[in-house]
Amino acid sequence: MKYLSTRDKRIRLSAAEAIKMGLSRDGGLLTPERVPVIDEAFLRSLIPAPYPVRAAKIMALYLDDYPEAELLSFAEDAYGPERFDTPAAAPLRKVDSNTYCLELWHGPTSAFKDMALQMLPRLLSAALAKTGEDKTACILVATSGDTGKAAMEGFADVPRTSIMVFYPKDGVSEIQEAQMVTQEGNNVGVCAVVGNFDDAQAGVKRIFSDAAIRDTLDKRGVFLSSANSINWGRILPQVVYYISAYCDLLRDGALSMGDKVNFCVPTGNFGDILAAYYAMRMGLPVGKLICASNRNNILTDFLRTGVYDRNRQFYTTMSPSMDILVSSNLERLLYDLSGENDAEVRGYMEALSRGGKYEVSESIKAALNGLYWGGFCDERGTSATIGRYWRDYGYLIDTHTAVAADVLEQYRAATGDRTVAVFASTASPYKFCDHVLDAIGQPPKGAGTALLDQLHEATGTPIPSRLAALKGKQRRFDLSAEKADMERVVLDFLK
Ligand SMILES: *Cc1c(COP(=O)(O)O)cnc(C)c1O
Repeated sequence: MKYLSTRDKRIRLSAAEAIKMGLSRDGGLLTPERVPVIDEAFLRSLIPAPYPVRAAKIMALYLDDYPEAELLSFAEDAYGPERFDTPAAAPLRKVDSNTYCLELWHGPTSAFKDMALQMLPRLLSAALAKTGEDKTACILVATSGDTGKAAMEGFADVPRTSIMVFYPKDGVSEIQEAQMVTQEGNNVGVCAVVGNFDDAQAGVKRIFSDAAIRDTLDKRGVFLSSANSINWGRILPQVVYYISAYCDLLRDGALSMGDKVNFCVPTGNFGDILAAYYAMRMGLPVGKLICASNRNNILTDFLRTGVYDRNRQFYTTMSPSMDILVSSNLERLLYDLSGENDAEVRGYMEALSRGGKYEVSESIKAALNGLYWGGFCDERGTSATIGRYWRDYGYLIDTHTAVAADVLEQYRAATGDRTVAVFASTASPYKFCDHVLDAIGQPPKGAGTALLDQLHEATGTPIPSRLAALKGKQRRFDLSAEKADMERVVLDFLK
């Protein structure tokens, strides 16, 4: 199976090449040329299988240059007991008779990014060998908080790779920053950018498309790649857990084969909910995809009007991983819904970079309407939802998860649709202790890692062991830069 650029279908790469490059040279996103279809027998075969087997079988449908046995050995390693605190990897928790929560934060950095970023370094390392690459891959990452840490954790000391992470200076939580600046490994670098996530992401995209930098690095034996969700190797491992969740619902008798399920996903860069869309396109019985945003509700407006308009105020919220105005992965959805019309997609993206705005065709609007429902939850609603979940269900959820829980309720109130729904829980509440403590009526005392203990004492829930270990850790990085200086930072890092 080949991977094509959303902006120029004539660019056709193998899976290994697509994973190695991350982003197509023309700025497009590398996207599978067709979506493999699964049937009931396939789903049935996955029900008794452990998570790594499910992952290998699903990923093998897309990555025909990786044998299934190789994928299985990667998945067993990635989701094994050294890294995940539960063998289920992505367990479902029942909230009420038709509501389930898919917990995606049982990996080493306590955010859902681990689900993909424990697989990606293994896929990329193998891709270097498969494509006969003799250079070192330097992974450039722009992060809204969780990706950076998860990517460094995945790539630390992986041979023939290095990784440089940029995060918005005042746009991440204290725990997130502590996680990043204490990262171990001889091939990692971290830099705070004066600006917001979109500034960091724009800087990384600029470096990728800079031919002079590419040449300089080439002479040093280095090429740039991406671990952001523009890399197909990020999206694919996320397709797995939607299918896996359906299998768990079948296994537990919550659904019968063929019954529909709705997924509600807290969304930023549109990667996670795009993975749910691919699961649906593969034939998983999905009713609606419910796209949950925080106060930065550009996607809610887009799904309701068909107009994507980034000319608006940017807000820093308590769910920072969703503080995004340019949702890169939407491009893959537009490519699919336009009937793989690369010229049409290129037009939208050109309009976005020129005037910050585009309007999709009537046929895409109609398709979006059938597939998606968009809603958003503001700061007060987020806090109230955390409080309510704790009181009513004894279930402690983080700020991002609360956005999804609330938007799911809004959807049900607006439509009356009572289909079994799964909402994604994308981070441990211990990554956002201050807001979570406030929300459950326990004003935070102190700051940073001190709050881990306070949240533990207030709720009796366990502190993820890697977060507990942050307390004694030495800060290793103290670099910050203006957004215009990101090029120089990269060149210095790769000296
Ligand atoms: C990254 C992230 C999101 C948003 O996911 P996208 O794939 O960017 O839409 C939501 N919640 C948390 C905790 C995250 O880290």
